[in-house]
Amino acid sequence: MSRYRIGVYPGTFDPITNGHIDIIKRGLRLVDKLVIGVATNSSKDPLFTLDERVKMVEEATLPMASDAKVDYEVVQFNELLMHFAMRMNADIIIRGLRAVADFEYEFQMTGMNYQINPDVETVFLMADPKYQTIASRLVKEVALYGGKIEGFVPDKIAKAVQAKLDERNGRE
Ligand code: ADP
Repeated sequence: MSRYRIGVYPGTFDPITNGHIDIIKRGLRLVDKLVIGVATNSSKDPLFTLDERVKMVEEATLPMASDAKVDYEVVQFNELLMHFAMRMNADIIIRGLRAVADFEYEFQMTGMNYQINPDVETVFLMADPKYQTIASRLVKEVALYGGKIEGFVPDKIAKAVQAKLDERNGRE
């Protein structure tokens, strides 16, 4: 029996990195529709506003999704992940796993999510080894101290990070 499968890939995307993009590319092979959920996550004190993050995700991924001929949407959310997934009618939640460090948090979150709704499966994907160690937090840190981030994020995003940091420095 074939049916229309919907996946949600949630994250903060502050900013979107080549690691995220690799996971999205893989996710597109698994579903008929992929929804990228951009979380408000004000507790993480994001560098970019929610609207900026959504726009950056769209710019970096829309062509890839249309090439894959998969229905695709970038949606912001400010609610429990499982509630968001249910609102999107998702069958699966996609998460990326980097190293052991991600495991503990993902393990707990998946366990809690299964209690809220056991019918939505969580699927873990690993990025290509050359992207596995990339983290938004480190990208920002490297840029803050004047390092090059071009290999970690698309060029346009690297410029946006630099501009944002310059803007912040100018204000201080
Ligand atoms: P969150 O605040 O939910 O951790 P992130 O934007 O940091 O949001 O990450 C979103 C998802 O992408 C998470 O599942 C995270 O583990 C995964 N991810 C981030 N970077 C990578 C990477 N380099 N390789 C694989 N997965 C990644």
